[in-house]
Amino acid sequence: MLTFPAMSYAITPPAIPSLPIIGSDQRFPVRRIFCIGRNYAEHAREMGATVDKETPLFFCKPADAVVTDGADVPYPQATQDLHHEVELVVALGAGGRDIPAERAAGLVWGYGVGLDLTRRDIQAIAKAKSHPWDVAKAFDHSAPVSALRPAGDVQLGPDTTLTLSINGQQRQHGRLGDMVYSVPEIIAMLSALFELKAGDLIFTGTPAGVSAIQRGDRFHAEAHGIATLEGRVV
Ligand code: MN
Repeated sequence: MLTFPAMSYAITPPAIPSLPIIGSDQRFPVRRIFCIGRNYAEHAREMGATVDKETPLFFCKPADAVVTDGADVPYPQATQDLHHEVELVVALGAGGRDIPAERAAGLVWGYGVGLDLTRRDIQAIAKAKSHPWDVAKAFDHSAPVSALRPAGDVQLGPDTTLTLSINGQQRQHGRLGDMVYSVPEIIAMLSALFELKAGDLIFTGTPAGVSAIQRGDRFHAEAHGIATLEGRVV
C-alpha cells in the first residue's frame, strides 16, 4: 500500500474563508479579494476625485475579511468614520494571466453583493500623505458578502440595480450600466497585473451615496435579481 507522510504544521492551519451558494449545500472557497476604486463617475465626484481611465485604481482585502450574510460586523478599531460602499461582487471559477476581455466572462463562476467597508478617516489621511490604502480598506471584517448565485442563473444588464439601505432608509442606488469599466474589462485589467485563480472575488466599485454606518445600524444590500445581504454593525 502506498502511503504519504501526513503534512505536519507547527500551528493549527487557519480555516479557509468561504461563502454559501444559493440553491446548494456546497460553499465557495475564497482565495483572494480584489477591488476596483472609482468605477462609477458620480461616486468619484462625491469623493472629490475624477475617473482616470488611463490608470484604474485597484486594491486588495485579505480573504479572511469576508463576513457572511446575516452575521454581525464588529465596528472596527482605529476609526470614527466607517463607511459603507455597496458593490456587485464577482466570483471566479477559473483564472489566468493576460485574459482578453472577450474571454473574461467565461471565468465568472457566480455573482453576489458585498460591502467594501472603508475607514474613511484613515483613507483621507492616506490620500493626503500619498500612503497606500491598505489600512483604510483591508481591515478585519471589512468585506461582508452575500451568498453567491451561480452565473448560469444570473441575467446581468445595464439596468440591474444595486441598492443599500441602513435601518430601512435607502442610502445608495445605482445601475450596473453606470460602471466605468464593465465586469469583463475589470477581469482583463486585473489579469494583466496578477495571475487570477478560481476562488478569487472581485468587488466592482460603488455607486454614489456612500456615508457613515454606526454601531447598532442594520444594513440591507441588494443586487436586484441576484442576491441580498443583511447584517448589523455591533
Ligand atoms: Mn469600493
